[in-house]
Formats: sequence, structure tokens, C-alpha cells
Amino acid sequence: MVIFPMSGVLSPRRRLYPPACRPYGLEAEPEAAGFHPRHSLNRDYSKRTCKEEMDKGTIKITILGAGISGLATAFWLHQDGFDVTVLESKNEPGGSMVTRHEDGFLIDYGPNSGLETTPLIGKIVAAVGLEDEMIYADEKADKRYVLRNNQLHALPTSPAAFLKTKLFTPKAKLRLLAEPFLGKSEEGYYQSVSEFVKRRLGREFLDYAINPFVAGIFAGNPDNLSVKSAFPKLYRLEELYGGLFKGLILGARERKKRAEQSKQSARMFSFKKGMQSFPEAIADKLGDKIKYNCNVEKVAKSGTKFKILCKNADKSKEFVADIMLSTVPAYQAAAVFDDKANKLVGHLDQIYYPPVKMLYLGFRQEAVGRPLDGFGFLIPAKENKKFLGAIWNSTIFPYRAKSDMAAFTLFIGGARSPELLDNENDKLIDNVIKEFKEIMHINSDPVFIKEKMWPKAIPQYSLGYIEHERYFEKFEADNPGIFLSGNYRGGISVGDCIKNSELTYQRICEYIKQK
Ligand SMILES: Cc1cc2nc3c(=O)[nH]c(=O)nc-3n(C[C@H](O)[C@H](O)[C@H](O)COP(=O)(O)OP(=O)(O)OC[C@H]3O[C@@H](n4cnc5c(N)ncnc54)[C@H](O)[C@@H]3O)c2cc1C
Repeated sequence: MVIFPMSGVLSPRRRLYPPACRPYGLEAEPEAAGFHPRHSLNRDYSKRTCKEEMDKGTIKITILGAGISGLATAFWLHQDGFDVTVLESKNEPGGSMVTRHEDGFLIDYGPNSGLETTPLIGKIVAAVGLEDEMIYADEKADKRYVLRNNQLHALPTSPAAFLKTKLFTPKAKLRLLAEPFLGKSEEGYYQSVSEFVKRRLGREFLDYAINPFVAGIFAGNPDNLSVKSAFPKLYRLEELYGGLFKGLILGARERKKRAEQSKQSARMFSFKKGMQSFPEAIADKLGDKIKYNCNVEKVAKSGTKFKILCKNADKSKEFVADIMLSTVPAYQAAAVFDDKANKLVGHLDQIYYPPVKMLYLGFRQEAVGRPLDGFGFLIPAKENKKFLGAIWNSTIFPYRAKSDMAAFTLFIGGARSPELLDNENDKLIDNVIKEFKEIMHINSDPVFIKEKMWPKAIPQYSLGYIEHERYFEKFEADNPGIFLSGNYRGGISVGDCIKNSELTYQRICEYIKQK
């Protein structure tokens, strides 16, 4: 869920769908830790058009879901003159991007920031007139903490800091020296993040660096996530360069040589009025192209067209489209495809979305006994706490709380401890607050508490995910006119969803051109 966005190799996948004809393998991407060439900074986004000579308004494209994936794709298509309709079951845009304002606190119940990993973000922000609202994280937020033995340790960002840190024992630090001399694994695609990291960097690095960050990014468990699907850059460093350190050095050198393709370090962004103001602004531009309170129940093929049945209370409405794009979560997509797509439904249904509870706390500033000099902290599973980590909201962005208040978001559950949320009772929240206060040296109770349960929060790119990825490509090739997108394909972060929206737009254009 990218609670803790990372702009390096640990960022969740940025690789985008390959063309259907290319085997879903390892592409020799030159920028192992950078942009896909299609998204190079040199690309001229102002010339984005699908096909000049056709009457685009006659092609009806229906998009399921008004989350950021659906809205951004609708935006590119609408801008290019297509007749787009977006069907959304809720009465507001944004999907996981939900912001509320209460008692002087700004609460982002979903993503609280994004990383500006693509110029496409700025492009949409400008086009929807939100430039003045966009804000960047305070530089203090560069510091990220990890809990060990009840102490918060800053994650080292330089070799000197690494040598000094107490986050890792001297033995673990020495173990890293072996990394360049280790060969590749035979397991290929079917390696978990844990296996990969334990083999290359040792057990302690897995426990105190990767385990907490996987919880921060995917709300995930590294034992179950596929390194190839969830962290393709990490995987590719080994594949292309034979090791992580070699890959980091050689990759950086190569990017430097190709100055034009070097990746600027991504900045963390949000908006003055919270993350939801972004999808809201896109939705404003789309106007009545979005149909709210429209729960899509079924999609069926009818000749060359698609019939999409939408229900709201006891009323139902049918939409007919030439092209249908689903951006709803995998388990929702499984529910809308008809019986003929059994195999697709099987793949979609197998994707695990663990529950996450988001706990928002406001304290008086004066009650907080430690400096709020970072993004927040993450908790390794070995530390046996009842939550995964906490974000220090009011440090990262202004306008999150009144000046005498400090605001925090804590995350509970995820794939690491979903059982905590099964038989949940008031005690869980009390215990979480108690643990949090101890870690943060807070001497009074919160003055503001809000919580939100995400029963199915984030798709887990689990071991064997490549089978789903390959099947989705085959399904699209076998069913021309249907496109599948959303955060279960090509990355879970807001930035990935936006990059993929542009790629989905391109894929739709290719399809129309070939028709
Ligand atoms: C708690 C949480 C914290 C996160 N934190 C971060 C973060 O800090 N940074 C970051 O980059 N990313 C973060 N993420 C991930 C990121 O927010 C999501 O991956 C991204 O917003 C997903 O967008 P989407 O459009 O693909 O899907 P969604 O946002 O899920 O949108 C899908 C839309 O489809 C609609 N829908 C579903 N079923 C139907 C139906 N049958 N008919 C019609 N409409 C339907 C839904 O109502 C929804 O609006 C977080 C996610 C969560 C849940």
C-alpha cells in the first residue's frame, strides 16, 4: 500500500505491461532501476493522439471504476476525443483515495502521498488546474525509522551511517560483504522476496530492513510475495548485473552515461486538501461522463459490442460499448464477468487482498516526547507489536492538523497479521495506542481517534503471480475489445497506476488502429 513510498530499487514494480506478443520474461531494460523507455522524460506528451483521421466520437469506451486507474485512463481518452463513460459503484470518485476533514484534522484514509515517478502526474495535475494545490513533502520526511528493541533507528542512507547504525549487528554488516560473490538462484521467477533477500543479504537484513518495508509497501509478508512480480527492479539487478551491489553501481554508471534517460529522484507529493482532491479534479473535467451509484453486475458480449449491466438499489441500466476496460479490483472483476470466462474468474479470485485497519490519531504536540523528524517508522515482524508502522502526517505535509496538534496514521493487520482483525475488539485499538505511545514517548491520550477498515486493501503479488500475469495477457488477446487494468497489474502505487493508465490508453489506441 506504499505506506512508506521508496524511490529506489525497493519501490514496487514500475515495469509496465509488455506488448502481448512478447513473452512475459525478463526484458533487457537498459535502465534497470529507472523509467521504461516509453516514459522517458524526453517524450513529448503534448502530441498524444490516437488516430487523427477517424471519427473518435463514434467509438464508445466504457470504463469500470472511478479510482485513479480508471479516471486517469478516461482522462487520456477523453482528451483525445473519444466517447468515454465511467461507471462507479460509489457516490464519489477516488476509490482507495479517500480524504475527510474533521475537527481541524485532514485524514487520508487511503494513500497519504504519492511518488512523482513520472511526468504524467504533473501533466494531469496541470491539465485539471491543480498545480497550486500540489504540495511536496518536507525534507525532514526523507528520514525513515525502523523499530528494534523498542528503539527507533534511522534507516542509514550513507556508508558512514550504515557502519554506525545499531539497526544491524556487526555480523549482519559483515555478511553484506559476501553479496557481490554470490551467484544467481536456479529458482528464477518462483522465488519469494524472503528467499531472495536471505540468500543475497542474509537473515538479519531480511528481518530488519526488508520485512518492515514489505509491510510498509504491500502490507505484505515477504515469505509469500514473488520477488519478480512485486520487486522487479531488485530481481533484475541480479539478472542483469549478477548481484545487487554490482547492479546498483553499474546501473547508476550506465544511467549517468545516458544523461537523457537518468531518473530524477522522485519527490513525494500530495495536495493541500488531501489526496482525494486529485481524482476529484479529474472527475470534474469528465463531468457527466461519470455515472455514480452504478454497481456493474455483469458484462456480456453481444455481437461486436459489450453489454454492461449496472444496478443501483432496485433500478438497473444497461450500457452498450465497443470497448470495455475494467479497472475495478480483481475480486470485483471476477464477479462481473459471465460464466464463459471461468478461467479468468479463477485467476482473478485467487489474488489475495489482505485486510488493513487504518487508525488515525491526533495528540497535542506538547505531549509528544520525541522529535518528529521523519516520515515515520516501520516495525519488523520480529518485534512482535500489534501494528505494522506509523506515518507522522503533520511532519510530512502542512495543513494536516492545527499547529498545536500532531497527527499520525497507524496501520494494523495486512498479510503479516490478518488474524488480528478477525476477532477484533476494543482491546486491539487500546493495545495499539499503548504500544504507540511507548515508542513515541507520548504522555497523554489521543484527543482525536478515527479508524477505517479496508477489508480487502492491497493485491498481493504472491509467488506464482506470473501465471496470473500471463493469463491476463492471453485473455485480452483472445477477447479483443476487453482490457483489464487496475492495481493488480503493473504496480500498486498511485504513480504506477497513472503510468499504467497511459499505457492502457496506448493499448486501446493500438487496438483501434488495427481494427
Ligand atoms: C489503505 C491504503 C493505503 C495506501 N497508501 C498508499 C500510499 O501512501 N501511496 C501510494 O502510492 N499508494 C498507496 N496505496 C495504493 C493506492 O492507493 C492504490 O493502489 C490505488 O489508489 C488503486 O487505484 P485503482 O483505481 O487501481 O483501484 P481503486 O482505488 O480500488 O478503484 C477501483 C474503483 O472501482 C469501483 N468499483 C468496484 N467494483 C465496482 C463495480 N462492480 N462497479 C462499478 N464500480 C466498481 C470502486 O468503488 C473504486 O472506486 C494505498 C492503498 C490503500 C488501500
